[in-house]
Amino acid sequence: MNADLHCHSTVSDGTLEPEVLAARAKANGVALWALTDHDEVAGQHRARTAALALGLPYLTGTEISITFAGQTVHIVGLGFDADNAALAAGLRATRGGRRERALEMAAGLAEVGIEGSYEGALRYVGNPELISRTHFARFLVETGVCGDTPEVFRRFLVEGKPGYVPHRWATLANAVRWITEAGGLAVIAHPGRYKFTPTEEYALFTEFKTHGGRGVEVVTGSHSVADFAKYTETALEFDLLASRGSDFHSPDESHVDLGALPPLPDRLTPVWEALAARVHHPA
Ligand code: AMP
Ligand code: MN
Ligand code: MN
Ligand code: MN
Repeated sequence: MNADLHCHSTVSDGTLEPEVLAARAKANGVALWALTDHDEVAGQHRARTAALALGLPYLTGTEISITFAGQTVHIVGLGFDADNAALAAGLRATRGGRRERALEMAAGLAEVGIEGSYEGALRYVGNPELISRTHFARFLVETGVCGDTPEVFRRFLVEGKPGYVPHRWATLANAVRWITEAGGLAVIAHPGRYKFTPTEEYALFTEFKTHGGRGVEVVTGSHSVADFAKYTETALEFDLLASRGSDFHSPDESHVDLGALPPLPDRLTPVWEALAARVHHPA
């Protein structure tokens, strides 16, 4: 099935509105869709309403930022109750501090001669509680400092660079608990992107399971073909369900469009099998 269970709207750091994403997913042949904005569920009602009006089955989604072994890791939640109060409070707490972090990032960039980046980034922000590095990247491309957003990250926004500010996100235990207690299923997002040692990665998967985490993204726009193979083995080793999602952010920036992914390997059990009762179906 062409399920795409990971993408971003203007409610976080995507450039398209939830309704536009729903139409794009439908046009691209997606058969089950989830919008997974960073640390936020404010777009869920809009996404679900738009999807169902188009005849597109929908799962609720979010992507929670956590800190694990000194690195930022993303945990995708799927199929939860979007009105759950404890999840909402946890996400609100996770969003808190983004403004202060952004002001510190701007101060760091000003030190290397890039002025006005906080105000500049804000022009790209759809949700005032969700200013992210992506919005700074768009401003630095707009002003011609860099040619594209990956170049901005490489030169300015990753550890050791002038616009990088270390940040403490949610804990693994809390993120998995918020999702699970809201009736959803927790998934480790794009594990191939982290820079863990094998021991740290083993600890991430082991602790994730201990806390009740159930799935891992195997086929994602953030993975190479080698990553597909590696995390197929990891999913089997840890008895995890497999997820699939483009991580689409923008027609101008994302190299993988909604629904434009290879299928999950046959040996894996798709997360949507465990989420069948949580899917919202068109009338
Ligand atoms: P933040 O939550 O503010 O730390 O921003 C993280 C977001 O930045 C991710 O969700 C991606 O959308 C984007 N991002 C991270 N690394 C890169 C990169 N190397 N190139 C382009 N975008 C990136
Ligand atoms: Mn993002
Ligand atoms: Mn992510
Ligand atoms: Mn994402």
